[in-house]
Amino acid sequence: MKLDPKADYIKVHADWHKAGIPGKTFYEKALYEVNKGYAIVVAPDAIKLTVKLPPLKERVLKRDKYTCQYCGKYGDTIDHLIPQSVYKIFTTEEMAVCACKRCNQLKSDKPMHVFIKELMKERILEMIDKEL
Ligand SMILES: [Zn+2]
Repeated sequence: MKLDPKADYIKVHADWHKAGIPGKTFYEKALYEVNKGYAIVVAPDAIKLTVKLPPLKERVLKRDKYTCQYCGKYGDTIDHLIPQSVYKIFTTEEMAVCACKRCNQLKSDKPMHVFIKELMKERILEMIDKEL
């Protein structure tokens, strides 16, 4: 059975949901969860979660061992590689990294290439400071 891409929303069933009341999600997210093996399709407009996943933030922080992927220091926030405030898409584990508060604020909604340029400038200035 396949999910109906034209469905307004996809119902989400899970044994651990409050009183068996299904949640809702959208097609792309439901398809992602099915493809990852986190859910099975039970109707063209419904999936059933087969894995109880911890929240995205917890999964990303553990995967990256609480290390900021930009500066290597301790990090306890996650950065959405594609800013959610700019592009209204959902974030998967693959689209997020652990970041320290400073790097996360510095990156904000900037495109990645702009942020990397700023980081590189900063590093070069730090290196020059150490030389002097
Ligand atoms: Zn950082």
